[in-house]
Amino acid sequence: MSFVVAIDGPAGTGKGTITKILAEKLNLINIDTGAMYRCVALDCLNKNITANEEEKIKEVLEKIDIKLENTNGVQKVFLNGEDVSSKIRTPEVDDVVAVFAALKIVRDKVTPIERALGEKNDVIMEGRDIGTVVFPNADVKIFLDCSLEERANRRYKQNLEKGINETYEEVLKSIKERHKLETERKIAPLIKAEDSILVDSTNMTIEEVVEKIEEIVRRKRNG
Ligand code: C5P
Repeated sequence: MSFVVAIDGPAGTGKGTITKILAEKLNLINIDTGAMYRCVALDCLNKNITANEEEKIKEVLEKIDIKLENTNGVQKVFLNGEDVSSKIRTPEVDDVVAVFAALKIVRDKVTPIERALGEKNDVIMEGRDIGTVVFPNADVKIFLDCSLEERANRRYKQNLEKGINETYEEVLKSIKERHKLETERKIAPLIKAEDSILVDSTNMTIEEVVEKIEEIVRRKRNG
């Protein structure tokens, strides 16, 4: 049996950074499931397909090839053979990804890929529905939360580092809209699983969050 750590939570909580560090420390394979939904959104954007064109999205999903590669701690994302690691993290993709991710046909495509990865390997998988839908029996379930304002603040700073020019207000608006879509959607909404452990990172550093989750995982693994 493989060992599965599920890390769920909204955008901007530091999930990506924290999961990457924990994967290395705990020798687990890091799986960023948001990257898969971002690939679907980017593929559709590139083909000028909107989220209400289900037939066209179905065709995209039939042909889509998504690969996540981890080399020396660096994760690369390939869409149909092209390295799209940066292209999937633009404000354009941020703005539409949650709408595509709410579609049943999209989730029906991505969820089995996630399950197959977690059944074969010891993984730390981050997303929105890992502990509720994808691996309800995960060995460790963490729900990473943070205030909306602090999440927007972190995403704003990340964007500046990447040279993306969005004001704090624009980032806050986008984060709020995404949060509403993710928590209110019918399929696999973002909610805390009853048996997941809540970690609120609003007033914690990355190191503190890592330390806390690392201890929880080690206790479970050894115990
Ligand atoms: O985590 P990240 O912000 O990269 O995720 C991108 C989008 O993919 C989220 O806004 C969410 O709508 C969707 N997602 C999801 N279920 C997951 C992971 C991501 O619906 N397990």
